[in-house]
Amino acid sequence: MTPKILISACLLGHAVRYDGSGKPLRHPAIDRWREEGRLVTICPELAGGMSVPRPPAEIENGMTGADVLAGRARVMEVTGGDVTAEFIAGARAALAFAQGHGCTHALLIDGSPSCGSGFIYDGAFSGRKHAGNGVTAALFENAGIAVFSHTQVDALDALIVAD
Ligand code: SF4
Repeated sequence: MTPKILISACLLGHAVRYDGSGKPLRHPAIDRWREEGRLVTICPELAGGMSVPRPPAEIENGMTGADVLAGRARVMEVTGGDVTAEFIAGARAALAFAQGHGCTHALLIDGSPSCGSGFIYDGAFSGRKHAGNGVTAALFENAGIAVFSHTQVDALDALIVAD
């Protein structure tokens, strides 16, 4: 079976980010994956019931998505709202969607409290980054889906081509 790739909706240019923007990623491998029928897409935050626009959110106290899943940390909006439940619900919905489509790999945008896999922001809304994953990336990794960041398209493509 052709390995499927779950890609963050904003990377395909869908206007789903907190500020109503997308973040389209242009790469020949992405065009080829689309032609090969490998791509499926979802925005975990919208799947969790959040809307566009929405306040920016970060995982508190320099913690990670794995900490959120373990109940050790919350996801907080800059306005003070606790959106932990929505982020967990969105991650679970995204995982069910990915598994339902037979996704073995995911290409997720880095830096997001949902989709980040290499780095996320530290919860102070100050622009400071630290190594760690978002809630959806952490859940995917726990479930055995290989997660790549948007800076790792070539590495993912090499793996897909070798399969
Ligand atoms: Fe993009 Fe993921 Fe944030 Fe949705 S949750 S806007 S797909 S980074």
